[in-house]
Amino acid sequence: MIPPRFEYHAPKTVGEAVALLGQLGSDAKLLAGGHSLLPMMKLRFAQPEHLIDINRIPELKGIREEGNTVVIGAMTVENDLITSPILQAKVPLLCEAAKLIADPQVRNRGTIGGDIAHGDPGNDHPALSIVIDASFVLEGPNGRRTVAADGFFLGTYMTLLEENEVMCEIRVPAFAPGTGSAYEKLKRKTGDWATAGCAVVIRKSGDQVSHVRIALTNVAPTALRAEAAEAALLNKPFNAANVQAAVDAAIAICDPAEDLRGDIEYKTAMAGEMVKRALNKAWSRCA
Ligand SMILES: Cc1cc2nc3c(=O)[nH]c(=O)nc-3n(C[C@H](O)[C@H](O)[C@H](O)COP(=O)(O)OP(=O)(O)OC[C@H]3O[C@@H](n4cnc5c(N)ncnc54)[C@H](O)[C@@H]3O)c2cc1C
Repeated sequence: MIPPRFEYHAPKTVGEAVALLGQLGSDAKLLAGGHSLLPMMKLRFAQPEHLIDINRIPELKGIREEGNTVVIGAMTVENDLITSPILQAKVPLLCEAAKLIADPQVRNRGTIGGDIAHGDPGNDHPALSIVIDASFVLEGPNGRRTVAADGFFLGTYMTLLEENEVMCEIRVPAFAPGTGSAYEKLKRKTGDWATAGCAVVIRKSGDQVSHVRIALTNVAPTALRAEAAEAALLNKPFNAANVQAAVDAAIAICDPAEDLRGDIEYKTAMAGEMVKRALNKAWSRCA
């Protein structure tokens, strides 16, 4: 319950935050919504000597459109994803899935950028960001770079983010007309992390699958894109046999950790079930 002592900093710009990260080095941590970092500090799993609060940086907040791209500030809180008219129209999967993250209080603080930067395989945004083909804008001392969500997650709590970088924006191509999507999350209770989850984005051309993205939550050390599962469906008819082939291919890449949510066999079977449900729901939403 009692976190260790730390120095507190509250920069007003990303440039100032980056400078502080450079100056303070690995003794410093960025503080976003604080709903993963503070729990870890209270249990003394993390003991940073400096917290750099990025809540007072206006440029990191808000959702806007740039042509066909939806740009989400990294400090946008989950509840603002749910109520965003832009996301409801252009990337409805994020609105729907954010309702399955944590609870109302946590969603008033927890940010999309923090959920992604944390690199927890139990978090929901990593798999979601992969299926929506998101990219992340990271600012460091040498300027900005943009990296794809697919490939960003390196290991448990490890991502492509460097110690001296701030995630600034999440950029998402607007869904093409007719796109279907779904997020199926098995959990023990509201506000719990997934036992297994699956995100799907899919488009059709006649009875054939013309585009498909499938990603899995909490069944491996990182969120996983299920590329072989996608290949089982792409340019093929959407039927029970091909869906089963996708399910089997997704099951084959699962590598879950055994814990109180279940053993490896159960979590793997549930990942398959979530894939089947998410595919069927997303397909039924295609136009
Ligand atoms: C009771 C409870 C239930 C929860 N359930 C779920 C759930 O079901 N699904 C889910 O996905 N999450 C869940 N969470 C986690 C919650 O969504 C967190 O808010 C989220 O994981 C981290 O976001 P944050 O903004 O709070 O980041 P923080 O806790 O402030 O930071 C997390 C990490 O990310 C780094 N970081 C944050 N922002 C940036 C940035 N812009 N650039 C670079 N690094 C950054 C920080 O330095 C820190 O290392 C739950 C949390 C609680 C307390």
